[in-house]
Amino acid sequence: MKNIFILLILTFSTPLTFGQKITSKQTHQQIPVVIKNVNIITLDSTNTIINNATVVIVGNRIDAINSEIPQKATVIDGKGKWLIPGLIDMHVHIPTDGGPFGPKMPTQGATMFFDLQDYMTLYNANGVTTIFDLGSKPEHFGQRNEIGKGNVIGPRMALAAVIDGGEGQGRRANTTEDGRQAVRSAKAEGYEFIKVYSDLNIETFNAIIDEANKQGLKTIGHIPDAFQGKLKDVFVPHFGMIAHAEELTKHAIHFNEAEAKEMAEMLKKNDTWLCPTLITIEWILKQVKSLDATKALPTLKYIHPLTQSKWLTANKYNQWSDSATIIKFENYVKFNNYLVKACKEIGVPIVAGTDAGTSSVVPGFTMHDELELYVAAGLTPQEALASATRLSANWLGIESIVGSIEINKLADLVLLEANPLDNINNTRKIAGVFINGRWIGKKKINITLSELAKWNTANKDKYNWKALMNKRK
Ligand SMILES: [Zn+2]
Repeated sequence: MKNIFILLILTFSTPLTFGQKITSKQTHQQIPVVIKNVNIITLDSTNTIINNATVVIVGNRIDAINSEIPQKATVIDGKGKWLIPGLIDMHVHIPTDGGPFGPKMPTQGATMFFDLQDYMTLYNANGVTTIFDLGSKPEHFGQRNEIGKGNVIGPRMALAAVIDGGEGQGRRANTTEDGRQAVRSAKAEGYEFIKVYSDLNIETFNAIIDEANKQGLKTIGHIPDAFQGKLKDVFVPHFGMIAHAEELTKHAIHFNEAEAKEMAEMLKKNDTWLCPTLITIEWILKQVKSLDATKALPTLKYIHPLTQSKWLTANKYNQWSDSATIIKFENYVKFNNYLVKACKEIGVPIVAGTDAGTSSVVPGFTMHDELELYVAAGLTPQEALASATRLSANWLGIESIVGSIEINKLADLVLLEANPLDNINNTRKIAGVFINGRWIGKKKINITLSELAKWNTANKDKYNWKALMNKRK
């Protein structure tokens, strides 16, 4: 109760001081919404399934399960349908406005703008109600606020600040003291998580993980190249999660199951979780070979024409089409699967992530591809679903509000036409989605997607990635 009180003070005191109106367009249904006769896959800690149930949603919360149907409720028929918690993508990159290109002047902001709603529509349409951005900038706080205000309908966002070494990206730190200061600065700027990156030296990496723990921030990331040949050393206490399976695969020599098991044991011993992003390595392999699969991708039309242009005309993976690279990535794909299987067998928690934003990895839609790949690698459909719901919520520390279907949790829900426990691909058969209590039915989803595709296609000629990059020089 005390916490709620503090939150209310923080939320309301500042705007009132300035005499401004407190507004929110997030008009949750005041009339309760009821899903009748639905089968609930709760994904709670005991994996309860409740058949033929009634779920009552009031505002943005799950108010009751199997209580009486309130009078004046909007009723959705759930007969023969299945309800799962909203999906969580633990590895995404949300674009921000770009530019200015060419000579810069003070006061000059971005000149290339993108529509946040169009982008978030891809998550909404696919039942992804929470995302973890792993390269966050100040603009992402603004995006999150737009969703909070109700100006944009989209998933809740967790934000990680990147710290890299050398001449790398994000904040750079090449000494232990700079590493610690970078963590403290990121915390002061409001970031909730730290992402460590490839060019950090060993001492600075260790200092960052240690300082992040002291500051109460969890860490996720790449395994810096400096650990090549000494993989064991990367497993320092509180290194919370590895952001791609191939961060480990890069250290494989034989690419066999025994080696995968050894690595899974290192993760287990250190309580480091794994976010595999299998779909990304599958796409990298395809693009190294050819761009045909990207060109034929049915969801490409939902991607902004500038990004389409980048993927098709400046695709970095397609520049490496030599046979040695192809063999390398074939080994990566194989070993990534072994790793997922070994982690499952040994009890290393796996959380679902796609690395959406990477070329050909279409936001939202690829979440279902990722889950399909986990099942192909050896997870049960139930385990794959847990990786994208309860386990991800646990790692982020938001399990008290999302990640399972329980009374009083937020109404982040996906209604499916068929049982995903029978076939994981049934997560694609979406009848509708609740995003923070707001219902978006299939009809609305389809209209929004087709309008988006229409606009992207009509504006294709206006966006040329190469021309824009030339302007930048
Ligand atoms: Zn990434």
